[in-house]
Amino acid sequence: ENRIVVPEYTPQDSETELSLRPKTLDEYIGQQKAKENLSVFLEAARRRGEPLDHTLFYGPPGLGKTTLAQIVANEMGVQIRVTSGPALERQGDLVALLTNLGEHDILFIDEIHRLNRSIEEVLYPAMEDFELDIMIGKGPAARSIRLDLPHFTLIGATTRAGQLSAPLRDRFGVQMHLELYNTEELCEIVTRSAGILDIPCEERGALELARRSRGTPRIANRFLKRVRDFAEVIGDGVITGEIADLALSRLEIDELGLDAVDRRMLTAILVNYRGGPVGLETLAAATGEEAVTIEDVYEPYLMQIGFLTRTPRGRCATARAAQHLGLACEEQAGG
Ligand code: ADP
Repeated sequence: ENRIVVPEYTPQDSETELSLRPKTLDEYIGQQKAKENLSVFLEAARRRGEPLDHTLFYGPPGLGKTTLAQIVANEMGVQIRVTSGPALERQGDLVALLTNLGEHDILFIDEIHRLNRSIEEVLYPAMEDFELDIMIGKGPAARSIRLDLPHFTLIGATTRAGQLSAPLRDRFGVQMHLELYNTEELCEIVTRSAGILDIPCEERGALELARRSRGTPRIANRFLKRVRDFAEVIGDGVITGEIADLALSRLEIDELGLDAVDRRMLTAILVNYRGGPVGLETLAAATGEEAVTIEDVYEPYLMQIGFLTRTPRGRCATARAAQHLGLACEEQAGG
């Protein structure tokens, strides 16, 4: 299924994301708490002439973790190397990256919860003592040599901090949780993006896109591009509230940003399971989505708007969800 509201990165996002990525903390909208703390840590590191402590950003996809890592590099005036947990297959892959870093450079590892154990083992001494132990040769002739590494900063990003091994998590001096954005912030992001892409967009139009973006800048930017097509073909090129509403309705995104899969999932809970609780695996089967995807990607927003609750015995859909979907609500619905 081709879902436009999927907050994960898709290849179609690439060219626009490059131009839309804020380059400084000042340009980075929202995430006030994370931003304020980060600017203190950056300033302190700069004054001491040290690299920033190893930093972990966690939260749902599309909220700006990669962007923040690049901003850190930019603000520190250092290079950033980007990789991801699944991309690092052998120890040598990581060794090559680490030994090519310059002093204070940043190594960014996306989806760091997906690193395999043998790679983590290389990472521990690298993070802690800026050292590598590598084995040379095989059998009885094998010996280990120690290499000094530059003082670098590891920035990790993950959708699930809980899945990081404890020793890895503990080696991050700074850990920041990114939160879903509110409508006002998303409105600002849409307006900024429209300016950069030279798309005429009225305030009402931006608001309409913001409201339906599930708290996620990546989705807001994607909507902007799609709705521009409607504005140009159906209207006179300007994204008005009316055009935005019409376009998103055609894309089957409702007023709250729910699409067909969300509605199917909530309906299944409300109708087939009388509001829940329903186990995650059962929901996965009912929607055809993977359990981890439901958990990391779809649930955070549904919980934020009060449509879904997680209980030890499973997921419950709330009376508010039932009302939104126009379904009669069982007594126990309400979570
Ligand atoms: P993540 O790494 O968390 O999946 P990204 O950093 O790739 O998310 O962000 C996705 C896109 O959303 C970026 O290209 C950027 O244009 C936009 N974006 C994210 N956060 C912000 C923000 N705070 N202000 C403006 N744009 C943002």
